[in-house]
Amino acid sequence: MNAHRPELADVFRAHEKEFLARWRSVLSRPQLRAIRDCRTAALGGHLQKCDRCGHRVILYNSCRNRHCPKCQATARARWLEQREAELLPVPYFHVVFTLPQQTGYLVLQNARTIYNILFRAAAQCPAAFEALCEQAAKLQWVVHIQPPFGGPQRVLKYLARYTHRVAISNHRLRALEKHRVSFQWKDYAHHGQRKIMTLDAVDFLRRFLLHVLPSGLVRIRHFGFLANRFRTPNLQLCRDLLAVRQPPKPADSHNPAVTNVQDRSSCPICKLGQLITIEVIHPERTLVPDTS
Ligand SMILES: [Zn+2]
Ligand SMILES: [Zn+2]
Repeated sequence: MNAHRPELADVFRAHEKEFLARWRSVLSRPQLRAIRDCRTAALGGHLQKCDRCGHRVILYNSCRNRHCPKCQATARARWLEQREAELLPVPYFHVVFTLPQQTGYLVLQNARTIYNILFRAAAQCPAAFEALCEQAAKLQWVVHIQPPFGGPQRVLKYLARYTHRVAISNHRLRALEKHRVSFQWKDYAHHGQRKIMTLDAVDFLRRFLLHVLPSGLVRIRHFGFLANRFRTPNLQLCRDLLAVRQPPKPADSHNPAVTNVQDRSSCPICKLGQLITIEVIHPERTLVPDTS
C-alpha cells in the first residue's frame, strides 16, 4: 500500500498517456485536464503571508468541474442553501424516475438524447399525474401517496447527495501501484459489506469517464414556477399569495462549508494574524469551468 493515499488526480497524472493511447475517442479532454490539475500550479492561485508571524501559504485555484471530487463539497453546500431558500410552506411530492437497467448501453451511446427525453418526461409528470388521479377516482380506487418523510428539507439534502456526486470520491481510493488502482466499494448484494476492488489503472479511468456527462448537458433543470427565467417574480408571487415572508438571501458567509476563503484568512500557525495575498500566481493555462 502507498503511504500517501492516492487521489483521482494522481491516477490521471500517472496513467493519462496510456489511457489516451487506448481510449482517445471516449475522452473528454478539458474535463480530464481540469480534474488532473485541480488545486495545482497549473490552475494558478495566490501566495499569502501572515501579517503577524510571516507564515506563507500557497492556495491553488480549484477547477470547479462538476466531475471533480475535490470541488463537490462546496458546490453541494451552495446548491442546498439556494434550494432551501426557495421552499414554500406547501406540500411537496418526491417523484423518482428510474431507467430500466437494460437501457444502460443505449444511454451510454446516446447520453444527451436520452437524458433530454427523461427530463421532458419528468417535466410532464404533474399533468400526467393529475390525469392518472382523475382516472383512478372514476374507477373508485384509493390512491395513497406518502408526503416526503421529514419534509422537503430532508428530500433536498438527500437530492444534494446525488446532484453533486462524482463516480468515485477520493476517500474511497486506497492504493495506486504497479498500474493498478485499489478502491473501496459497498457490496449491496451482501448487506452493504465494504470490500476492496483492484482494477488496471487504465480500465479504472475508462470506467470513471463512463460517468462523465456530455459536456454542456444541464443535469439539474427547473420547470414550472421554478423555471430559471421567471423564478424570482414567480416565487415572490407565491409568497405574496401564501402571505409568507421572503427568507434572507443565502449569503456565503453563513455556511462554513462555503466560506473556505474566510476560514483560510486566519493564520494556521500563530492563530492571531490574518493571511494577506502578496502575490497572484498566474495559471499555466486558461480553464473553462464546467459548472452547469
Ligand atoms: Zn476540482
Ligand atoms: Zn501567523
